[in-house]
Amino acid sequence: MSSKLLETQPRVGEALARAIEEDRLPHALLFGGPPRSGQREAAVELARAVFCRDRQGASPCGVCVSCRKVERGTHPDLYFVEPEEDSRVIKTEEIRSLKARAALKPFEADTKIFVIDPAECLNDVGQNALLKTLEEPEGRTIFILISSSPERLLPTIHSRTRRLNFSPAAPAPAEDPRIQELRGRVLDRLLALASARQAAETDFAGPDREALIRVMDSLILFFRDALVLRAGAPGALGLPEDQFEKERLAGLMDEESLCRRIELLSEAKEWLSENVNVKLAMNVLWDRWKNIT
Ligand SMILES: [Zn+2]
Repeated sequence: MSSKLLETQPRVGEALARAIEEDRLPHALLFGGPPRSGQREAAVELARAVFCRDRQGASPCGVCVSCRKVERGTHPDLYFVEPEEDSRVIKTEEIRSLKARAALKPFEADTKIFVIDPAECLNDVGQNALLKTLEEPEGRTIFILISSSPERLLPTIHSRTRRLNFSPAAPAPAEDPRIQELRGRVLDRLLALASARQAAETDFAGPDREALIRVMDSLILFFRDALVLRAGAPGALGLPEDQFEKERLAGLMDEESLCRRIELLSEAKEWLSENVNVKLAMNVLWDRWKNIT
């Protein structure tokens, strides 16, 4: 598991890491704890570790095809089951399609992972429909139920899942003043380049690496939010701040442009994580960014 998860949720991170190393991951997990305490990120992280083709202990390599697909949200063996926009209920059709998919072999990995988020959006009918699949999944399957109100789940669901409780989230990385300062500088430059304005030269060096990786994470969320606003679904924002700036972006850039920018920021994060020279990585980012229309 990533050092970030081990740092922010040490108990959960260590429990999952041990289970992966000893190859005894439960086939149904319930991630409890306050909303947005990193449960969804942990589910993705777990998927990465399970699917990784070059895992070291419990740590995914972060660079193989599987790791990249999970990162980009395109891995065919990782499914999310969620309520539709503006709804608090996961429809029975969704459960039916989950069951149909659970009966198939995995496409690429040797395991399928289903993330149900939030699980309390399953009504009793939905929960009952899920039970049998939880009991006898076809082949290697892991179900991850995320819930901040586990008391709303049926006792039969509880008895078939292993519960891990997340602690309330620590302050977001962006609240660290140094990260915030760096993020401000990177974002200013990106916005200036995107609108062909004169941008202040800004230099980054080796010691900024770890902070810049976190900055990329935060900017990926920022641009995803702009994309969400563009699609007209403001209920699904990842970061509540900078609303005005995001709305401006949503007005300026079309979906294609925003998607390509998000993709480029993910690539920049990969280069930084792969130890590419920091200055070089940032220069390539500026160059390619400028050329996205
Ligand atoms: Zn990997």
